[in-house]
Amino acid sequence: MTDVLLPSATLGMLGGGQLGQMFALSARVLGYQVIVLEPDPHSPAGQIADQHIQAAYDDEAALKQFAAQCDVITTEFENIPAHVLNLLAESCPVRPSAFAVEKAQDRMVEKAFIQSCNLLPVPYADIHSEADLATALKTVQLPAILKTARFGYDGKGQIVIHNEEELNAAFKSLGKVACVLEQQIDLALEISVVLARNAAGESQCFPVAENIHKNGILYQSIVPARVDANIAEAAQVAAQRIADKLDYIGVMAVEFFVTKQGALLVNEIAPRTHNSGHYTQDACVTSQFEQQLRMICNLPFGDTRLLSPVVMTNLLGDVWGDSQPNWDILLADSNSKLHLYGKKEARIARKMGHFNTLADDVEQAKQKADAIMQGLTPC
Ligand code: ADP
Ligand code: MG
Repeated sequence: MTDVLLPSATLGMLGGGQLGQMFALSARVLGYQVIVLEPDPHSPAGQIADQHIQAAYDDEAALKQFAAQCDVITTEFENIPAHVLNLLAESCPVRPSAFAVEKAQDRMVEKAFIQSCNLLPVPYADIHSEADLATALKTVQLPAILKTARFGYDGKGQIVIHNEEELNAAFKSLGKVACVLEQQIDLALEISVVLARNAAGESQCFPVAENIHKNGILYQSIVPARVDANIAEAAQVAAQRIADKLDYIGVMAVEFFVTKQGALLVNEIAPRTHNSGHYTQDACVTSQFEQQLRMICNLPFGDTRLLSPVVMTNLLGDVWGDSQPNWDILLADSNSKLHLYGKKEARIARKMGHFNTLADDVEQAKQKADAIMQGLTPC
């Protein structure tokens, strides 16, 4: 039987980004201590934690000190090397495990894993070297997207391909690193499932989110998703199957594509809390961050019930321009809740914060959120 960790226990967070920050905020509300390990001296989570160990993820002495001080360790960042998680696991429980995190670090491994769960990834081909390019074109329909197998996020490391010349040039421009070539899907919509799974193998899903992306970056999540109930149900079942196969402990997300023909394809797996789950902070009984804490501490599930239709809108650095956004427009709306991550520099495409807009239905929430976004950008 796994030990239950009660308030005042010390929780370790690998990674100092906004997902770590929002976890740390939830943990503090519940009376836990948080130690963040993160190289950046000014990280969002480092500002909130009880202790910030400023060290690289492969600094063995720092990792040992971290593990010695924590009762359990979790992560907010999928690119922590598996051997680091295994090293930590020698002296402290690490949830999720290196095995689970590793499956989501490399698109080739991830897609093979999705197939091993009897689920459908987007049609794709593996590319290890130039020799694989011609074969890939025979198996993947154009237009397609060339994606680096590792370290891609927010649409980075992706190039749209219309013909063989473009594929050759794109592979070169990505540095000839391992890639996947994916068919570009004619999307009806994108949805995601955030779910929690405990050490006893029980899992619970949050309501399915409908996601709108702009330039490969999440723009809005709409909940409830405007999708056929059977597809929403199938997505939750698929996400639970993936979590079971990973023997996952914690909170994770699965992103799906719904094609114009009504097929459900698995896009990718995130072994952590997810941007499309931020709506839970203001619209569910339990947030994804509290649920993450509950799972790693072996506490019972918090209720995942949706209390109100909601639209979550991301605030990218683009909204800042040369000055602060017109916050008064957002703050004047009594049903919009602002979350800012404390990042000092507002760069283009950098996630600076988000806001959740609640309303009687998602159409109204979306209209209001879109109007707020229009008004936020300084003229
Ligand atoms: P990231 O790791 O950057 O989130 P994704 O593979 O999820 O990478 O791609 C980001 C977004 O780009 C997706 O949410 C989707 O909007 C679009 N996209 C990616 N791959 C495809 C595809 N094969 N067909 C259509 N759209 C795609
Ligand atoms: Mg994605």
